[in-house]
Amino acid sequence: MTDIKPIEGNGHLLASESGAGVAVGAPSKKVLLASPRGYCAGVDRAVIAVEKALDHYGAPIYVRKQIVHNKFVVSSLEKRGAIFVDEVDEVPTGSILVFSAHGVSPAVVEAANQRGLQTIDATCPLVTKVHREVQRFASEDYDILLIGHNGHEEVEGTAGEAPERVQVIDGPEDAANAVVRDPNKVIWLSQTTLSVDETMETVTRLRTLLPTLQNPPSDDICYATQNRQVAIKKVGAASDLVIVVGSANSSNTVRLVEVAKQAGAKAAYRVDFASEIKDEWFSDVETVGVSSGASVPEVLVEEVLESLAIRGFGDVRNVTTAEEDIQFSLPTELRRDLKAAGQETSNKIKRN
Ligand code: SF4
Repeated sequence: MTDIKPIEGNGHLLASESGAGVAVGAPSKKVLLASPRGYCAGVDRAVIAVEKALDHYGAPIYVRKQIVHNKFVVSSLEKRGAIFVDEVDEVPTGSILVFSAHGVSPAVVEAANQRGLQTIDATCPLVTKVHREVQRFASEDYDILLIGHNGHEEVEGTAGEAPERVQVIDGPEDAANAVVRDPNKVIWLSQTTLSVDETMETVTRLRTLLPTLQNPPSDDICYATQNRQVAIKKVGAASDLVIVVGSANSSNTVRLVEVAKQAGAKAAYRVDFASEIKDEWFSDVETVGVSSGASVPEVLVEEVLESLAIRGFGDVRNVTTAEEDIQFSLPTELRRDLKAAGQETSNKIKRN
């Protein structure tokens, strides 16, 4: 595999195999593989939490909603004894319930407590950070405009921290529907997995209507979402076709498809599995870009690369725009029980 660093502005690519760089000129079938891609620290932690809970407490382990938005991951965990439910009242009293990486509202936590469930909170710490921002600004009597997708689990959980103070703004077209009590006490926050560019467009529209709108104390769109979007922009600008691996309900995956198209890819598609790739996508295609959402295990990307190689796209070149080494510790409740049993409390797990 060759490492490639895209050059801004001229549309050419430099291969950095030898350190001296090689101009890529003549058209040939190749794959540009975006990096970073795939699993983020929050997804890794949530999946490992369920795996370790299954190992430690034994099946069944109940999980509210999909632990992460990926069909393959969910079905793999189901095979090991995880049971996914939509709501707390589906879980037998006294059972162990894991909250997904997308987070839950205080009402859900209360319902689980009322039912006598032992809970493990696998909410991504970067989602929890936005929950804390909502708590803080609601306690200071701000109106909070939460930019995000109506109905998405993360947005429901975050808005549920202060439903009387939070209004969800679902994209630029929804900005005109913002209603606030005091224009001098309004702040915007956001879902963690949005398109950076579209979010800023929404903020610009909101600010036209509310010039005193305050910015969040720090970025809410997480590092993993931002890094994957930067990488797919580079890849999309140099590709005829982009394939993004991930599930339809994965917000960050769907955003990657949009960003690839906006960056200049003639076509971009999302697939859960390599078997969904269609022959008709490849007419007049010399360069295929590949990436994957933050909830996608690398094995699914490897299968896509194998499928592309069979179609003549065996020349795979990495396009790397950032290195990631973030790791979150396991949920507190799980760490406590593992430690009490003298077991490993790190995120390391032996994968099959
Ligand atoms: Fe956390 Fe971002 Fe991964 Fe979501 S995409 S789980 S917010 S790191």
